[in-house]
Amino acid sequence: MKLPIFNPPSVAIAGSSGRFPVRRIFCVGQNYADHAREMGSDPDRQQPFFFTKPADAVVESDATLPFPTRTDDLHHEVELVLALGAGGADVCVDAAEALIFGFAAGVDLTRRDLQAIAKKSGRPWDMAKSFDRSAPIGALTVGVPPAQGAIGLAVNGAVRQSGDFAQMIWNVAEIIADLSTYVALAPGDLIFTGTPAGVGPIRRGDTILATVEGAAPLRVVFAD
Ligand code: MN
Repeated sequence: MKLPIFNPPSVAIAGSSGRFPVRRIFCVGQNYADHAREMGSDPDRQQPFFFTKPADAVVESDATLPFPTRTDDLHHEVELVLALGAGGADVCVDAAEALIFGFAAGVDLTRRDLQAIAKKSGRPWDMAKSFDRSAPIGALTVGVPPAQGAIGLAVNGAVRQSGDFAQMIWNVAEIIADLSTYVALAPGDLIFTGTPAGVGPIRRGDTILATVEGAAPLRVVFAD
């Protein structure tokens, strides 16, 4: 058998023919108080928590996706995504934004039914969060995201999620700094920064439009 050959996953950059190569994908859980509450948790500032997706879970805007297997409750979570152009370990909050190459609109697709089972039984979230094509992401805007700005998601034109980055429990710099105490961050890493309230089910044939102020809109279509 031949050795496998593949290209590293990558993300479009707005206004450029260049591509951003994806090294790893980290995600923050329950980073907006109103979403934490809708998930039955008590929002607080104890410590952010993280999970991951494989790099090849990224999907471009305007893709038509096959409906994921093994779920009857696929959920959307619109998120501001950070793309790191530099790395570091134990990064201090004041130095954290200097690692950012750009930002984008993303959707943390979630098999909510499998996540509920995992939570109840104390098992890992991987098959609920880290499946094929579970990380749609729009084109990157180069630069640091604004401290406040609208974030939202519509399904078939009906608004389901509407919030502002300013509602984050842990801001962008705090997330980077804290994550860098668990792992040494590196160029090519993406960080999904959490979702505001209003998460809900996606059905076969639905069209999702995710928006993050300052970034290109992200459109995802699910096949019938
Ligand atoms: Mn999420």
